[in-house]
Amino acid sequence: MIKETLEKIEQISERTLSAIKDSTDLDAVNDIRVKILGKKGELTAVLKTMGKLSADERPVIGAKANEVREAVEKAVSEQMVKLKALDYEQRIKKEAVDVTLPGKRFPLGKSHPMSVVLDELKEIFRSMGYTVVGGPEIEETRFVFDMLNTPAGHPARDEGDTFYVSDDVVLRTQTSSVQIRTMLENKPPIAVISPGRVYRRDEVDATHSPVFYQCEALVVDKNITFADLKGTLEAFMKRLYGDSVRLRFRPHHFPYTEPSAEVDLSCFKCGGDGCSMCKGEGWLEILGAGVVHPKVLQNCGIDPAVYSGFAFGMGLERITMMRYEIDDLRLLYENDVRFLRQF
Ligand SMILES: [Zn+2]
Repeated sequence: MIKETLEKIEQISERTLSAIKDSTDLDAVNDIRVKILGKKGELTAVLKTMGKLSADERPVIGAKANEVREAVEKAVSEQMVKLKALDYEQRIKKEAVDVTLPGKRFPLGKSHPMSVVLDELKEIFRSMGYTVVGGPEIEETRFVFDMLNTPAGHPARDEGDTFYVSDDVVLRTQTSSVQIRTMLENKPPIAVISPGRVYRRDEVDATHSPVFYQCEALVVDKNITFADLKGTLEAFMKRLYGDSVRLRFRPHHFPYTEPSAEVDLSCFKCGGDGCSMCKGEGWLEILGAGVVHPKVLQNCGIDPAVYSGFAFGMGLERITMMRYEIDDLRLLYENDVRFLRQF
């Protein structure tokens, strides 16, 4: 009986030690250890049969079992150290950084030409004492039309031109709604510009889009006249297009200004001689302007007997296209980097 047990223990020992040496990962080593030495392990199972042995035999088996246990524990810890070292070495190799390799190049973005022009516009007007203001793009008709002296039935309110959200809410067709909001919230003197997106029912082509950018300006104070408007526009245009440009005012009609004018800029490319940019005219149509209609001031609680003001508005796309001689509006919206990189 004792001989058999000793042999069995010896077998377990040999098999286990060689399995440990052959194992290639830490989990496997640990599994072997549990399988042999654990509560339900093989060696433990053999030791449980010791009750059947005589008192003389038990110490012999016990000593042998201890010897095997120690050998297995030792082999396990040695193998674990070896595997950990191997694993570390492999990880170092894998994660090694070759500092001689060239660095990664990250693609750089470019400012959109419209952003460049808008930033410049803001800078020019800020330097003249204006504040930049904004307002909602989904706007009540009273701010877009009624209070701007554009009553129900006026052609500008037509559904063919305007996106209606409901009877009295629209996608704003102009940023003039921001002028109304500004006058309602502030007392004169007021000097603001309101750049932003506006919406009209237009098909997309080289010069039209249902969404585009406007920048409007409003000044309200005592003794503001058409002369102030002319002086301001001249200063602004010279900053934007150079000292040699001239302005031309043509009478026009807007419901919210009186008198109103359309303003042309002498062609900055040919100096007025006529070229492809100005289509031989020598002049470029650039913005609409006028003296704020007394009714509009009144609608906003500003006394037109005391205060007066001027306003003007321009399309940001048009300014940008002229500035960079871009001939198709759509290029500004497609955001093709090859196009954007040119600016
Ligand atoms: Zn020209």
